[in-house]
Amino acid sequence: MEIYNHPTFHMACQQFDLVADRLEIPAEQRDRLKYPKRSLSVALPIHRDNGAIEVFSGYRVQHHLTLGPTKGGLRYHPDVRLGEVAALAMWMSWKCALAGLPYGGAKGGIACEPRQLSVTELERLTRRFTQEVIPFIGPQIDIMAPDVGTNEQTMAWIMDTYSVHTGYTVPSIVTGKPVGLGGSLGRREATGRGVAYLINRAMDTIALNSGTITAVVQGFGNVGSIAAFSLAKYGVKILAVSDVMGGIYNAKGLDLGKLESHLNAAGTVAGFSGGEPVTNAELLLLPCDILVPAALERQITEENAGKIKCRILAEAANGPTTPGADAILDQRPEIFLIPDILCNAGGVIVSYFEWVQDLQSFFWTETEVTDKLFRILEGAYMQTLSLSRKQKISMRLAALSLGVKRVQEAKAMRGLFP
Ligand code: NAD
Repeated sequence: MEIYNHPTFHMACQQFDLVADRLEIPAEQRDRLKYPKRSLSVALPIHRDNGAIEVFSGYRVQHHLTLGPTKGGLRYHPDVRLGEVAALAMWMSWKCALAGLPYGGAKGGIACEPRQLSVTELERLTRRFTQEVIPFIGPQIDIMAPDVGTNEQTMAWIMDTYSVHTGYTVPSIVTGKPVGLGGSLGRREATGRGVAYLINRAMDTIALNSGTITAVVQGFGNVGSIAAFSLAKYGVKILAVSDVMGGIYNAKGLDLGKLESHLNAAGTVAGFSGGEPVTNAELLLLPCDILVPAALERQITEENAGKIKCRILAEAANGPTTPGADAILDQRPEIFLIPDILCNAGGVIVSYFEWVQDLQSFFWTETEVTDKLFRILEGAYMQTLSLSRKQKISMRLAALSLGVKRVQEAKAMRGLFP
């Protein structure tokens, strides 16, 4: 479909085609499974603080509606495009199905640089976006959550704008909102915590448990920072981390507490005095036991896939590895892959818990949330590992196969209207 033309969408389609071939999905069913059900592009005029009017582009894509409402994050980043959002929505579908959640996938975004907008400008932009997509969203239609460049505050503005429109408070319209507004305990930490849990499981699987275990994390936002702190709690030494401004490396291990203080003061991990500077490209090639890309798509490519030096590649970001890189990694059995739709599923799993709690107005303790999270992750991990071993296929192909097959079966059971 021409409107989704984008390298990330082509990548998601290539992955789908591989799975469809393996599952022998008939040609006539493929387009129905692959292409988003619906998508909306909106122009968002706002007043800048200096009085000027600027128009931003916003998108929301709902991939399939077969199993329930759609669910997915909202991204604020200059490179956001409809095709990228469509790819992220497709991955959300397979991720929700793999975890057994009653959702289809969705994603949204606004092409903007949030660091160059003031808080009041961000609020106006978020409220205007919400207003434009109100006919398209709802607690039983499509539920947003934070992603790159958005956070709890963004979700609070969306919830408020939607609630003002309906005339009563609707916490279940978004997840990842502040706990004081009906957010779930443990949601902010869920994705990174889930990443660390699965890395721990992978370490057991490949018997990586002697001596000092080291990790490198690209992207030190919500997911990357929580993953790093959680890994450190498991006793892993964090050698390097980065963000969009650059990275920092210390062969003896970074002091994460001091690094966080530096980040809070400077707004970036770059320039931290407890290590040496390293570029994002160099960081991916550092020797380590665990490599965690936790920033953006297409970081591990045909150029660097042969050169990464880790035992576990834990894809905390969505789509960090291109299909060309996958082909190279398939020839490197010494690297154990935790594919994105499994690795970062903790976020949407606890978002699902938040939605359930909001619908029931009955809230759980953080221990209940985390226990239930780990139970679902464990099930998805074991199913993926067992299929991968039984059929001698990569962990990515196994995870995608489980997700795609569940959506295919649901579509077959429901039939085709009219
Ligand atoms: P975030 O905005 O909190 O953090 C993103 C981090 O990546 C920041 O440190 C940023 O500086 C860095 N970054 C941006 N561009 C970069 C670049 N070109 N090179 C290196 N670093 C760069 O976002 P997040 O919520 O932590 O999301 C990170 C990844 O995890 C994304 O792929 C997102 O889709 C995925 N994810 C997030 C969640 C969630 O719950 N937030 C859930 C599932 C998946």
